Amino acid sequence: MKIESNPAHVEAATTPLHWKQGFAEDFADFPVAYRRVKATVLQEPRRLCWSDGAAACIGLNSKHLERHAHDFESCFAQGQVEYLGQTLAPVASAYAGHQFGVWAGQLGDGRAMLLGDLPSQASAGDWGFDTIDSIHLSDRIEVQLKGSGQTPYSRMGDGRAVLRSSIREFLGSEAMIGLGIPSTRALCLYGSDDPVFRETTETAAIVTRLAPTFLRFGHVEFFAHFHHHDALNHFLQKLAKRHYPKALSARHDASGLNDDDLYKLALFKSIASRTGDLIARWQSVGFCHGVMNTDNMSLIGLTIDYGPFGFLDQYDEDHVCNHSDHQGRYSYSNQAAVGAWNCKALALAFRAVISDEAAPFLAEGLQAYRRAYEMRWQERFATKFGLMPAGFKTQQKSDNPQTAQSDEQNLGNDGGASIHQFLEQSMQMLQRCKPDFTLFFRRLSKTSLNRPQEASELRDTVLDLASFDAWWDAYRDIAQGQMSRLRWDSSHRQAMMLAVNPKYILRNHLAELAIRRARGDHGQPDYDEIERLLHALRKPYDEQPEFESYAAEPPQWAKGLSVSCSS
Ligand code: AMP
Ligand code: MG
Repeated sequence: MKIESNPAHVEAATTPLHWKQGFAEDFADFPVAYRRVKATVLQEPRRLCWSDGAAACIGLNSKHLERHAHDFESCFAQGQVEYLGQTLAPVASAYAGHQFGVWAGQLGDGRAMLLGDLPSQASAGDWGFDTIDSIHLSDRIEVQLKGSGQTPYSRMGDGRAVLRSSIREFLGSEAMIGLGIPSTRALCLYGSDDPVFRETTETAAIVTRLAPTFLRFGHVEFFAHFHHHDALNHFLQKLAKRHYPKALSARHDASGLNDDDLYKLALFKSIASRTGDLIARWQSVGFCHGVMNTDNMSLIGLTIDYGPFGFLDQYDEDHVCNHSDHQGRYSYSNQAAVGAWNCKALALAFRAVISDEAAPFLAEGLQAYRRAYEMRWQERFATKFGLMPAGFKTQQKSDNPQTAQSDEQNLGNDGGASIHQFLEQSMQMLQRCKPDFTLFFRRLSKTSLNRPQEASELRDTVLDLASFDAWWDAYRDIAQGQMSRLRWDSSHRQAMMLAVNPKYILRNHLAELAIRRARGDHGQPDYDEIERLLHALRKPYDEQPEFESYAAEPPQWAKGLSVSCSS
């Protein structure tokens, strides 16, 4: 038949990748927003890893992987996208931003490019969002290559990414999804022998990332700073329609502001809330982003741009995971304040298209950031310690009507303020005792409050025994008091705690071992370790006896591992 003789139609009938380029279509009238680019192909690419979970978000399964290996390689290792016989050139977008607290001017996708978007099969949970989160996910998913060569925004860079940092991004982003923390996802990782020059000669790799959108604070800053106000208005409308539709019907009591101001204020407030919520979640698993510049902040509250990130091993609020961050600007304990600082930078950018009358109301967005952060922080840390946070209803399903009461009623004297105070004291104890952050909470989850000798295993891991003992006595009283008032039994307490205290996190030394094996440092390159880690990190809250060794503290050799911006 005629249609079969046309290769384009055969391709269209069989390819599972139904591309569109929504971003380029949306901004067709604003050429300043992006440039068409061509990927630098990887020579003799090898597929090193593939995430089934991420693939399912775009409707791909293992059969597709077998059947379309060649098609996938041209898309994801070489940036060649064709659909219905048409070649779709990838897109690099322009953005700007504040880096390490200083205005950095124009930036942009210097080594990333958007291939286009594909129909979504993902639910909120596939991005790490709770289903109750107030984010609206579009029915398309954006697909981006990272490390695919120079673009007009590469400045002095080569547009490439090395294998080591690509493995870290691949595992880091999928690990965050397993933890239930919003993040971009990694679909696949291709490597090649192509040389890339950093401190030494390394090899090139490309990660394919997925997200409902890759839009960043820096995009808003770009349009605002360079006075592209029409483009900014268009951009904010698109963002609101796609991800924050409720903002479009926002009403402000008696403010007398016009609809345009109102929706922008509501949009800013929603973005700020999402950001606060995200950063509190980071804190709860000891995640340090490492480079919280405004160009690395997602407008829908995803963790984005995995560079020198790390998870805390030993608890230390001053921990700085980025070796190049000499001032410690992005230390673990500074992340909340930096999030607020970044939201202020975003507010200033919004200011460019908001009236003078509306501008003071931007402060409400900053308050929303603080509120969202504090709510989530308290909810997460209270639950981590097996306590009932203020302002949250018990999750326990019970016929007993008492469990339907608010926790304030249930807690009696242990209402919000005192729980908050106790959590602060608990963090101070951790700072003095410096146990392994992840293991401490996992062990605490399994420690019975009724058998004091059980605390001895925890006690063995702390540096300041007096501090721990005083804390333990106070803790046991509060926790036991709550349990009897809420009629929790130990198994309920334990299940609640285990669901927020992961056993497996992507410790630096685990990533490092996978990298060394993939590079072939000690023999033939071997990518199995990436696969195994991916598997373990998918279910970080479950016991997985076959991966027990991944739950251990870092070995001595790994204590001095450092990660810099070089990637
Ligand atoms: P980052 O903080 O790593 O997300 O990068 C900051 C900016 O530098 C972004 O605009 C990146 O696209 C760009 N960039 C980072 N590394 C490279 C590279 N090797 N080649 C070109 N641009 C890069
Ligand atoms: Mg970046």
